[in-house]
Amino acid sequence: MENDNFDVIVIGAGPAGYVAAIRCAQLGLKTACIDNWTNQQGEPSPGGTCLNVGCIPSKALLESSALYAQTQSGLEQHGISVGAPEMNVKTMQSRKDAVVNKLTSGIGQLFKANKITFVHGKGRVLPSRQVAVMDLKSGKINNTLVGKNVIIATGSTPIELPGFKFDHKKVLDSADTLALKSTPEHLLIVGAGVIGLELGSVWARLGAKVTILEAMDTLLPMVDAQVAREAARQFKKQGLNIILGARVSTYTANKSSVTVDYELKGESVQIDADKIAVMVGRKANLDGVLAPDCEIETSPQGKIVVNEYCQTNAPGVWAIGDVVRGPMLAHKGSEEGVLVAESIASGKTFSLDLECIPSVIYTHPEIAWIGKTEAELKEAGTDFNKGHFPFAASGRAQASGHTDGMSKVLSDKKTDRILGTHIIGEHASELLAEAVFAMQYQGSAEDLGRTIHSHPSLSEALKEAALNVHKEAIHKMN
Ligand code: FAD
Ligand code: NAD
Repeated sequence: MENDNFDVIVIGAGPAGYVAAIRCAQLGLKTACIDNWTNQQGEPSPGGTCLNVGCIPSKALLESSALYAQTQSGLEQHGISVGAPEMNVKTMQSRKDAVVNKLTSGIGQLFKANKITFVHGKGRVLPSRQVAVMDLKSGKINNTLVGKNVIIATGSTPIELPGFKFDHKKVLDSADTLALKSTPEHLLIVGAGVIGLELGSVWARLGAKVTILEAMDTLLPMVDAQVAREAARQFKKQGLNIILGARVSTYTANKSSVTVDYELKGESVQIDADKIAVMVGRKANLDGVLAPDCEIETSPQGKIVVNEYCQTNAPGVWAIGDVVRGPMLAHKGSEEGVLVAESIASGKTFSLDLECIPSVIYTHPEIAWIGKTEAELKEAGTDFNKGHFPFAASGRAQASGHTDGMSKVLSDKKTDRILGTHIIGEHASELLAEAVFAMQYQGSAEDLGRTIHSHPSLSEALKEAALNVHKEAIHKMN
């Protein structure tokens, strides 16, 4: 490399790292980004988990499988009859791969356009903001870069359960489950979290019997209880068999299937399936990232310790995204990337409001929320008002036939400031954006309720929920 000194060296080109690198370059900083992701063709594939085996491919499969399910049973009411649809899983997977390739090569183009030095290799942080780069083929260090600043954005990897080592054939991780070449007859998923529910939905829609074993006694404990109840009802209707309070212990591999042993209410139970997909969370990826003498502090949970500004204990070394505290979400990592870049460029420090990060589960219906749930507010002793509005009372929902779901707004009893918004229903992911904006700028339920919304639109269901906070909804008994 011509000159190995940079203003900023970013390790990892996931949504945290690549966004940080682009923003640094936009702000005039000489930037390098090192990433080790290699695609099936053996080529670099920047974009991290999100673009390669996470957000994007899962949403591509959710879209294809939803279209298939809708064609099977959602069209008659519109007067449309088609023969029984056939699903070509290979074509669906090729489409997904093409989407991924388009987006990952787009990152490469953005790097070039912003004059970012991209290095395909494995980075290791040494003392004094030096980063050793390991060649991925030889495993040898072939370069050492020096940065005025280093941003660690090495992401996360799936957690493995003891006794369920990923063999990628019978015991699958989320990436394997996204890449299945045919629909399994019976897919057993361990973990009814976000990934288990999204990928379980995909394969159930395509005709697999899907059983999900969840260790907790409650489904989606982080979600508002009313929303979680509605979700459970909908998932049951869709044939997802979710077994709560189930603890897997071992499995036996048969010739073309597996037998899994689990405990349920003190009883031992056995279940046969084609494959086991383990989706029980993700852990920060620090594999070989920190040389011991760089003395960067990590937490007992194995994450890099940072302050509110994403600074580590080592001067000039920052960390962002899944590798640090906070929810493991692409948009959270990207925003941290922007604020760290701006902190470096300006010499000032900026922080992210971790309370103001939206979450979405892309099942059908979608589940989207921001801020506090009713239970959390009660536990904190906060006085609040609540308003909700069922999609069934929305003209647009009736016209489109997507009447399942509701939106709910929680606001502070004294100030009316919005403290939480919860939506389950069609396009909940898009509808939530307005509530995020309102919360970000400390908006009130009245602000949301008095804002003019296009008619007919599903967004009116959110406006009406906000109006219902003060018992002023128009299309519902308050
Ligand atoms: P990553 O995306 O993991 O990127 C880290 C990058 O660093 C990788 O390319 C990795 O190879 C590279 N790297 C690691 N170590 C080194 C090293 N030593 N040297 C060089 N490079 C290195 N989040 C959402 O917000 N919305 C969703 O819909 C969503 N869906 C998901 C679906 C699935 C199936 C999964 C698994 C995750 C999903 N997530 C979703 C989570 C999201 O993918 C992560 O939160 C996000 O990718 C984290 O971004 P990151 O940049 O911190 O890390
Ligand atoms: P998760 O934390 O959402 O869910 C894991 C589930 O597994 C939990 O319900 C947990 O109780 C259960 N579990 C843990 N150990 C178990 C055991 N031994 N037996 C049975 N169940 C067990 O984790 P995930 O679904 O793997 O997702 C990982 C991360 O990726 C999450 O932090 C999530 O935010 C992110 N992600 C986000 C999206 C999205 O934004 N739509 C989609 C996918 C993933």
